[in-house]
Amino acid sequence: MAHVKHQKWWGWGEEGVFFNYENKPAFAPFVKEAIGVTLRPRERDTVDFSTAHVPASQAPDTVLELLRQINGADNVSTEDELRVIHWAGKSVTELLQTLRNDFHRIPDVVVYPGTEAEVAALMRAAVEHDLVLIPFGGGSSISRSLQPDPSEERCIVSVDLGRLNKVLAIDETSGLATIQAGILGPDMEEQLNARGWTLGHFPDSFTYSTLGGWAATRSSGMQSDKYGDIADIIRGLRMVRATGTVVLRPLPSTSTGPSLREMIIGSEGRLGIITELTVHVHRLPEKHQVIAYMYPTWQQALTAVRQFTEAEIPLTFARISDAHETAFSLATQKKPTSPKGKLAAKGQDALWAIMRKRGWDTDEMCISYVCFEGSPKDVETRKKAVAGIAKKNGAIVLGSGPGALYDQKKFDTPYLRDFLLEQNTVGDVSETAAPWSKLTTVHKAVYDAAERAYASLGKKGWIMSHMSHSYHSGACLYFTFGYVYDDKNPYDEYHTVKSAIQQAFIDNGGTLSHHHGVGLEHQPWMEQDISPEGANILRALFSSTDPGNNLNPGKVI
Ligand code: FAD
Repeated sequence: MAHVKHQKWWGWGEEGVFFNYENKPAFAPFVKEAIGVTLRPRERDTVDFSTAHVPASQAPDTVLELLRQINGADNVSTEDELRVIHWAGKSVTELLQTLRNDFHRIPDVVVYPGTEAEVAALMRAAVEHDLVLIPFGGGSSISRSLQPDPSEERCIVSVDLGRLNKVLAIDETSGLATIQAGILGPDMEEQLNARGWTLGHFPDSFTYSTLGGWAATRSSGMQSDKYGDIADIIRGLRMVRATGTVVLRPLPSTSTGPSLREMIIGSEGRLGIITELTVHVHRLPEKHQVIAYMYPTWQQALTAVRQFTEAEIPLTFARISDAHETAFSLATQKKPTSPKGKLAAKGQDALWAIMRKRGWDTDEMCISYVCFEGSPKDVETRKKAVAGIAKKNGAIVLGSGPGALYDQKKFDTPYLRDFLLEQNTVGDVSETAAPWSKLTTVHKAVYDAAERAYASLGKKGWIMSHMSHSYHSGACLYFTFGYVYDDKNPYDEYHTVKSAIQQAFIDNGGTLSHHHGVGLEHQPWMEQDISPEGANILRALFSSTDPGNNLNPGKVI
């Protein structure tokens, strides 16, 4: 069988890696206070696959034979565990469905094409034999953009692009790299770094998501302030269809009518399979440093970050946790064991004393992280400029210690959701972007909407937020919410809370998603987001380019 790295069949990431709180003394009391649940330490590192009741494959022998001819017998599988791994992404709904064996239709077969010609042959076979093709990158979708339609009667083929995993060429003069679409984030960075380059695109899902998946979902990485969203990074691409291959040459800019490139970015597998992309790459920075700041209030922190943008200080990222998220971050700190850690803890006590002396309400304070990259001289100049604005807005500069901690923890948090779900607790996220002038309103409206939703369910719930990804005209707000779910009806409850938050985005000037895409999860808000006539154009595009509805049917619109 093809050697492609997969995530666990249930849950996020690597077998053997999981969240636990034993070395985080404040965590369990914090969760108890926030949502009333008493946590138990996790006893196992994985859920045993023998507990899964997997629907049988419905792939006809003739189709399997055809797929083996196209991809080679070793690259075609009807194994139950692989079909389950490929049936869904990692949204809370999908994780719950998988854990509870609420499978509906799952792929009948998984194929691993190794060349663009094989992808093209799969595309032609799909149209000729009326198969459903669902492209699969890392399987990290959080908007249900991989799940088949429960009523699908045709044979469903999951097309895993994991064998297309090479950096093919780097045009060093132009800062452009041509890379295969199925490459996972760490493999790509390793190949680029070896030649002194980086893409600079680091979504929280980086370890288990692919370049093609980022393109297909309009992803954004935590360093987008410097490197751009994936839509800014992609300059050229190849997308295979049954009738031919769309080839968009890498061009710095072009005025060739409505942008086909923009149309393909975010198409979630509905227009074709992206096999190759040409992307902006950057020289590895000489210095990379994250500095932490503490602000007395959310409003002061927001004003400061907006002023960094106005002052056009080149930053890699600037992120602020609101008061709730700040409290949560402090609760997930590890117990200091090293002498250095103990000294840092003493420093924290001293900081608390300073803040109280300044009259801060410590329940309102907000931690912020700013990342600087460049030559040591550039980093120092920018740090000074940021510190000046931060201090004018009341901040205390905490320094690089907590900043380094942020860099270390950044890819660990996805494991926390699984830990909570197994303890009847939802911990999930929803994110939006809005103009600067509307961010405060959106923030408040989402808190109010979540509280109303919790009250309607008779629950104690939690919500927290951070601001990240700054633009000239606004920024992204990212909310995390949590509550204890009812085993009898977890899906309706989840829908109540998630919908309330999504509707608050739209009603207050935000988008349905800044970087998680649409899938099935966010579709109910599409018409409100892009207008009914805009939605008609997208429907017409998909129905005319895929008249047989063979390409990831039902996603986006
Ligand atoms: P998949 O999940 O495998 O597929 C996603 C969609 O793209 C599907 O519709 C699939 O059919 C289509 N697709 C995949 N590859 C191709 C291809 N080659 N051609 C055509 N269509 C294709 N997203 C962010 O942007 N930023 C974040 O910080 C972030 N953090 C996350 C944290 C967690 C814990 C989780 C679970 C998700 C997060 N996401 C984030 C969402 C997710 O990682 C992104 O949507 C990511 O871009 C999906 O990439 P993937 O390779 O895993 O694609």
